[in-house]
Amino acid sequence: MTPTAPAAAALAAHWIDGHEARDGARLPIHDPATGAVAREVLLGDRATVEAAVAVATAAAREWGEVSVTGRVRVLRRWSERITAHREDFVRIMGEEQGKVRADAEGELMRGLETLDVACSAALLLKGEISDNVASGVDAFSIRAPLGVCAAITPFNFPLMAPLYLSSIALACGNAMILKPSERVPSASLLMARLGEEAGVPPGVLSVVQGDRAVVEAILDDPGIAAVSFIGSSPVARQVHARGSAAGKRVQAFGGAKNHMVVMPDADMGFAADAAVSAAYGSTGQRCMAISVVVAVGGCGDELVAAIAERAGRVGVGPATDDGAEMGPLISAAAKARVEAAIEGAHGAGATLVLDGRDHERAGGDGFFVGPTLVDGVTPAMDVYRDEVFGPVLSVLRVDTLDEAIAAIDANPYGNGAAIFTASGNAARTFQRRASAGMIGINVPIPIPNAVYSFGGWKDSRFGDQHMAGTEGFKFYTKQKVVTSRWPDAPDGGVSLAFPGR
Ligand code: NAD
Repeated sequence: MTPTAPAAAALAAHWIDGHEARDGARLPIHDPATGAVAREVLLGDRATVEAAVAVATAAAREWGEVSVTGRVRVLRRWSERITAHREDFVRIMGEEQGKVRADAEGELMRGLETLDVACSAALLLKGEISDNVASGVDAFSIRAPLGVCAAITPFNFPLMAPLYLSSIALACGNAMILKPSERVPSASLLMARLGEEAGVPPGVLSVVQGDRAVVEAILDDPGIAAVSFIGSSPVARQVHARGSAAGKRVQAFGGAKNHMVVMPDADMGFAADAAVSAAYGSTGQRCMAISVVVAVGGCGDELVAAIAERAGRVGVGPATDDGAEMGPLISAAAKARVEAAIEGAHGAGATLVLDGRDHERAGGDGFFVGPTLVDGVTPAMDVYRDEVFGPVLSVLRVDTLDEAIAAIDANPYGNGAAIFTASGNAARTFQRRASAGMIGINVPIPIPNAVYSFGGWKDSRFGDQHMAGTEGFKFYTKQKVVTSRWPDAPDGGVSLAFPGR
């Protein structure tokens, strides 16, 4: 198939009813590698949301009536279109988020994996049946679509997060209104255009650009049945409360502080490779980034030396440099926040083994900070407690696995946690006791395969059901149970007793 949809334009518009809507206030988007304005994005308002909901409501009714196999055919074509535009997505993610090529390609692949799972809708929407559950009576369950759903997504996964949510919502027969981060609007827009080319009917997938005002309009709109949110914990908490109070089904995924425990029996080179990859990949701007290494039982010196040696070699550069391994931060404000966290750690008495503020790129116009390694961190320090969301890896030293698990337990976040060890017993103890939704054993970023669902515990998730995978199918449908009988001679007689059999 020949790609036809244009890649990113100078203005990231709304996508409503199968075409662009271009009215409204505008916000500049900065290329994080240079600080220059890359393009502008529209900021929608309540009226924009109402317009999207009106068309989505009508579209959802018809889309929900399309057969499951009919919907899956459209999703398969959508996957092909997205794959054909792979280079456009990589470029857009580089321009707006600073994401380097290898990372952007990985994001695209993981997004497409979820689209593959969405294409298993015939299997995953299968109900249950109980034959002859009472005399001459059968019972069976159906999963029905919710109607109009909305997804509010963060800056750090411009394609994967919108695709995770919208692919499953559409597979279930819903319409979806996407509100991407105002800092990375173009991947969602291109995704929606390609959906249209693939046969997604107008109104079934809309994109409303904007910021907090659009989010609040979504949460208040009575025409929206369910909201999925991905972003920071304070906003996730508010979104969950406001959306739930308005009677919607809400799942809100928040921030993280992921610990990687290294036992003294682990291969230190292997563990250091993993720590560097997971701490500095995507410039630490992943909800599954490792931000704390917990060195157990005296392995700290060897581990810190191995991490520092590797981190010092990470190639920092713009997304336009195909060899770059780590790009800039998203914004000048993020750079200032990360630099303040490093300064705060230093002031609190931690040791700056590597200080990313000294990196040669950090002094330029872009929003770069180099890999930073902070040793001697204690749980009382801000750098340990706060989600820094940048290339800053803290090292906490403890004596036992129990202490490491207790540190994870005491942390308010619970997205992912990993252990590196040669001991099956330590690994099993960890997998059972660590209080996080996703556990890695000798795997630093345990993002589940797309057939499993994604989600954390504690302040990393508000609301029920993890996203995508099988739980995504539950979130985007409601169950109906049918009880039926077809008697040969309809003669039941009157009985006012509660039906017992
Ligand atoms: P953010 O919370 O600032 O923004 C997320 C979304 O909410 C955006 O679309 C934004 O426009 C909107 N928003 C921002 N402030 C708002 C407010 N006050 N009221 C209503 N809406 C608001 O998050 P971000 O900076 O875009 O993304 C980074 C955060 O997302 C990190 O905390 C990261 O850990 C988290 N994250 C979590 C997951 C997960 O699955 N748990 C995945 C990716 C990112």
